[in-house]
Amino acid sequence: MALKTKPKNKPGTVYLVGAGPGDPGLLTLKAKACLERADLVFFDQLVNPEILRHCARAKRFDVGKRGHRGHFPQEKIAKLLVQAARRHRVVVRLKGGDPFVFGRGGEEAEALRRAGVPFEIVPGVTSAVAVPAYAGIPVTHRSFGSSVAFVTGHEDPEKPGRRARDAAIDWEALARLPTLVLLMGVKTLEENFARLVRAGRSPATPAAIVEWGSYPRQRSRVGDLRSLPRLAKRAGIRPPAVTVVGDVVRMKPDLDWFETKPLFGRRVLVTRSGDRASELSRRLSEAGAQALELPAIEIRPPRSWAALDRAIARIEDYDWLIFTSVHAVEAFLSRLKKFRKGPRALTHLKIAAVGPVTAQRLEEAGFPVSRLGESFTSEALGRSFRARELKGKRVLFPRAEVAREAFVSELRRKGASVEVAVAYRSRAPRLSRRKILAALGKDAPDLLTFASGATAENLARLLRQAGLWEKYHKVPAAAIGPVTRAAARLAGFKVAVMPREHTIEALVEAIASYFSKKK
Ligand code: SAH
Repeated sequence: MALKTKPKNKPGTVYLVGAGPGDPGLLTLKAKACLERADLVFFDQLVNPEILRHCARAKRFDVGKRGHRGHFPQEKIAKLLVQAARRHRVVVRLKGGDPFVFGRGGEEAEALRRAGVPFEIVPGVTSAVAVPAYAGIPVTHRSFGSSVAFVTGHEDPEKPGRRARDAAIDWEALARLPTLVLLMGVKTLEENFARLVRAGRSPATPAAIVEWGSYPRQRSRVGDLRSLPRLAKRAGIRPPAVTVVGDVVRMKPDLDWFETKPLFGRRVLVTRSGDRASELSRRLSEAGAQALELPAIEIRPPRSWAALDRAIARIEDYDWLIFTSVHAVEAFLSRLKKFRKGPRALTHLKIAAVGPVTAQRLEEAGFPVSRLGESFTSEALGRSFRARELKGKRVLFPRAEVAREAFVSELRRKGASVEVAVAYRSRAPRLSRRKILAALGKDAPDLLTFASGATAENLARLLRQAGLWEKYHKVPAAAIGPVTRAAARLAGFKVAVMPREHTIEALVEAIASYFSKKK
């Protein structure tokens, strides 16, 4: 690891990086690359914690916390950055939005320059533009505004130097501009609007305030210079919020694309494991929901690969290969590779799969699936075979260590000789009450989702062990199919949603229609 240690006397580089307004997808590729390489990361209060997963290996310091004496003093942060660069190669100073837009990035860069520490700036998506955009407000528009000013509203009246900077804001000039975007201006909203009106801006000028922009919890209020302060106060709008003043605000009803998403503002628990969680979470977020991930299942290799390996060694002997889980597919493919066998080794076989995800994974790997469980349950798959297809046939069935036997019995009843090979084990992870609460947040989610019976059973066990069962078991649940629904009900959950087709896509659609009826 010679490269990792920094050459003596030569300081590392400090990257002043913008993290964007909140939505983790608005992080730039360059910012992500910096985070991945970082040794140390100093981040601010307004950085979405989800973004910090890109720097899992770095030491992280929260320098945005408000202590009893206000913010972490700016001079101290600059000093920390200089010290850090003397000891480490890659230091990241991560700031909400863009580092040079009201982020005091300029001051930090000056301090680094003075100390002779090399730095780079990685601009970010600023909340001044992105938050209005997520509220359906373009900051410029050919008909409504050809210039825009970003103004600081000075959230914190205790901050030193406030008077001097206030004096520097030319409200007379701002009152003549078509569009203003105010940051840090929740508490001072009324005062600043009054200044604009005194300076000649019409009290009927449209204005909007947007709290927690680009987050699933985004809220906004629309009014004018006279009414908005009252509306914001009544709604309890608090920092962080961006305020837009000008005719561009009129576009909001037409262009409101984010707050109108079908699952906007809903908090939905995703209980799948690892990679498999991401597709459901991704689709839920696309629909506007906040996906809370709690891995309720852990997939592990079998105690021994012997049975599966033996079967693969004489794969020519089988007529059918059946998968009822994507985990079994993954395990099978990895063992197949060990034997240096590819799709050609299986051309004589017919492959049956339960569930679209299982089938999709097989097809990606180049194995055509000739039979898909009709309604995606193993029972239906079993029924769909005719006795004539199975009589005297040899079936290889790689599956979980613990599984229901009904399916295998059905195949045997139809005359098949079925060989079960353990391909994986699944178990409930150990999660403390604190971890569960951290994943779920302090309020119960709006919905639980189950994509397999095992996740429902495991979640029930986890909640009971953590003493959280009372709080969560009445939350409505969505199950991907009838088998999962039955298991979830047996575990004590109230299943309120099940799609007709048992795919992730259909599940998310069913959830959306469930909530649209509840509105
Ligand atoms: N450098 C940042 C701004 C820092 S000042 C940027 O470019 O975005 C902090 C102010 O930014 C907050 O008081 C608020 O006005 C605004 N802000 C940042 N993130 C926000 C968000 N997600 N929603 C609403 N306002 C936000």
